[in-house]
This record gives sequence, C-alpha cells and structure tokens, in this order.
Amino acid sequence: MLEWLIPQEQMDALRTIINENEKFVVVAHKNPDGDAVGSSLAMMLYLRSIGKTANVVLPNSYPEFLAWLPAASEMVVYETAEEHARELVAAADVIFCLDFNSIPRLGVLGDAVAAASAPKVLIDHHLHPEDAFLLSLSAPEACSTSELVFRVIYRLSGAGALSQHMAQAIYTGMMTDTGSFAYASNRKDIYLIVAELIATGIDKDLIYRKVFYNYSTSRLRLMGYVLYSKLKFYPKSNAALITLTHDELMRFNVSKGDTEGLVNMPLQKKGVRFSCFLREELPGKINVSLRSVGDFPCNTLAAEFFGGGGHKNASGGEVHDTMEVAVDKFLKALNAYRKELTAE
Ligand code: 5GP
Ligand code: MN
Repeated sequence: MLEWLIPQEQMDALRTIINENEKFVVVAHKNPDGDAVGSSLAMMLYLRSIGKTANVVLPNSYPEFLAWLPAASEMVVYETAEEHARELVAAADVIFCLDFNSIPRLGVLGDAVAAASAPKVLIDHHLHPEDAFLLSLSAPEACSTSELVFRVIYRLSGAGALSQHMAQAIYTGMMTDTGSFAYASNRKDIYLIVAELIATGIDKDLIYRKVFYNYSTSRLRLMGYVLYSKLKFYPKSNAALITLTHDELMRFNVSKGDTEGLVNMPLQKKGVRFSCFLREELPGKINVSLRSVGDFPCNTLAAEFFGGGGHKNASGGEVHDTMEVAVDKFLKALNAYRKELTAE
C-alpha cells in the first residue's frame, strides 16, 4: 500500500547516497510553511537517528506557530546567521532540498546552495522540478513533502524507525498542506500514514490546537478588519480579493504569520472559486497568495500574471511595484480567466 509514489530504483539510489555519506544539510523554501519545516525537521531527526550529522538550514525564519516543533530552535536561519548557514552548506556531503522545485525558491540561500559542491537530492511534491538534482524524488500526487518523508523513512528503515518527534513534524506538514485534510487528501494511504503517526503516541488534536489556536490579538483584530473592510467580491468571476498595504500591516502591528490563512477565508462564501491576497511586505514589494477550489488551476494564473507558480489549488508569486499595479494585474487575470472561472 505504501510502496508506490517513489519508484524502487529511486529508493535504492537514496539508500546508497545516505549510506555512503556522513554530513547532511536539509534546506527548504523561503517563507517556510508547516510542510517545509515539518518535512525538514523529520528528515533531520531521521538522519541523526541513524548516526549521521544533519542540520536544517532555512533562508529566513519560520512562523511562530511552528516554534514548538521538536528541534525547531536548532534550525539555522540564513537571514540571522549567514556565516553559520554558509559554513554548513559548504561543508555538507549531501544537500537535501525539500518542498520546492527550483533553486530560486531558496531566496537568499540560493547562491550558497547552487555553489556548493555537494550533490543535491530533491524530495518534493510540486510540478515540474528543475534539473539541478543528482536524484529527484518528485511526486506531485503526494499531499505534502512530509508525506514523502514518511514514505522515505518507512521504506528505508520501517515503521519502527519513526520516533514520536519525527511523527509530530510529519503530521504538522501533512495537516497544514491539506488545510487540515480538507483538500488534496482524498487517498486511502494518507490515512494509513496518519494511523502510523498516531501509533507513535502523538496527540493530533493537540498539534491542531498548537498550530491553529495560536492567534495573537493583532491577528484576530486584523481578521475582523479584513473581512469587514478589505475583502472584495467579484461575483461575475466567482472571485475575491484581499489587499493589505504596508501601512496597514504596520498599523495592525502584524507580525510574520499573522496573515497566514487569510487567503482561504473568501472561499467559504458560496460560489467563490478563486481567492487572491495581495500583501505589501515592504513598500513596492507585494507578496501574492492565490487559492482556488475544484478544477480551476490558480498556478497557471500565478505563472502568467505574477511570475510565480505552485499547486493547482494553492499558488503564489510576487509583484515588484505599487498596490495599484498589483490590483490591475489581478483584474486583468480575472478577465483572461473569466470563462474557466464561470464554467459550469
Ligand atoms: P502561500 O500562499 O502559502 O505563500 O503559498 C502557497 C504555495 O504557492 C506555496 O506552497 C508554493 O508552492 C507557491 N508559491 C508561493 N509563492 C511562490 C512564488 O513566488 N513562486 C512560485 N513558483 N511558487 C510560489
Ligand atoms: Mn508542501
């Protein structure tokens, strides 16, 4: 049941790479989410459990709601510890690249990883991985990279090799990347994996509360403001838009993570199929988050209008310009995709 998704030849190649090397670094994409952090920590813990030296290096910091994860504080963040991060990457025998499909997704960490002599092994569930990896375990059918890390551990060492700490990290990644098993999670084996994770003694209800019932006051106030004043519906396109300028983010004292998940809220309105959230991180730098339901591929729209990509139902990109320009791009995208957005 759990033998598919990663072909046996790839598992054999991975086993050889792990057996023949000692020092491993695990890297994940910038603005790391629950899956990037969960899969990376689980991989690091597994490698350590079999006697290897392993570290996680991230381009920038992880959201506060993931800080409770086992060994989270041991992750080295390039933005705050550049020298240490560079040393680890340069000294690695092998670099595991988790939850992204192209080196530019590493942001500031990209140059160091590209320049490293170590071979790179990809474990990821995004479409169309770049050709930069010695071994590419790419499975877009997987609900999350964390699911793939489970499969790797299970097939290399069996269910007995899974510690409770690894299971907590893997469950967090699977839960966050599926909206708590609301999408991309309609496969029987996902629940066989969850059963194995629970068998290690994890408390999945507690993990849910730690991740989702963890809002700050500013986050709750911001939600009220966004829903009341900033959310616009476009009924002729079954679409919705939220914008937040840099000034607004400052006014609500918004910290990293406070805006996480806001983009999903408009999808709760009957009929809405596509939601866009434009967040002006810095004046002139706008982060684009897109979500869709059903067959509408928001990653195609992300690539065409926002220089980005991602999954069919969750994607993103960037606009290096004013909010007005970003909103204009959104409106042009609605025009271009009106037929798909309103198809019966
Ligand atoms: P989020 O809205 O949570 O920031 O991002 C959702 C998904 O969109 C990510 O998991 C990632 O797959 C994709 N994504 C977000 N930003 C970018 C981007 O700038 N470029 C690409 N290629 N994908 C992105
Ligand atoms: Mn993911």
